[in-house]
Amino acid sequence: MQDCIFCRIITGEVPADKVYEDDKYLAFLDIAPINPGHTLLVPKKHYQDIISAPDEVLCEIMKLARLLGASVMKGLEAPAFNLGVNTGKEAGQAVFHLHLHVIPRFENDGHKMWGGGSYRGGEAGRVAEKIKKEMTRK
Ligand code: AMP
Ligand code: ZN
Repeated sequence: MQDCIFCRIITGEVPADKVYEDDKYLAFLDIAPINPGHTLLVPKKHYQDIISAPDEVLCEIMKLARLLGASVMKGLEAPAFNLGVNTGKEAGQAVFHLHLHVIPRFENDGHKMWGGGSYRGGEAGRVAEKIKKEMTRK
């Protein structure tokens, strides 16, 4: 896709600091890192998001994300990492080419997790039911 920044990185038209490449996947540093070593892992084939990617790609990319996470931890001497996938603009997805964020984390690095809310008056049961009825395996 010509207007997709990650496709342009994959073709080499746009430069990136690559950390891994094979025939189907590429990993490169995020240009605006949450912490140094924040890496993006993408399939070379363009899929908009995790919903539209085939099972095979999801299985392969998860295995690579684990390897990448372990490598980021070792390379950056980070004790932990976050693995993130934003799906949809309301969730913060800005680039509509499937990508996994691998973010090294350090003690007291200043990044907070999301705040937690609470359920009241049977709401949790009603919410769980809404999801449960959609959970039909294809
Ligand atoms: P998301 O918000 O999940 O769609 O994440 C997109 C990520 O792509 C952001 O963290 C951006 O900093 C990153 N990004 C955008 N353009 C580039 C680029 N040319 N090279 C590396 N990372 C990029
Ligand atoms: Zn693309």
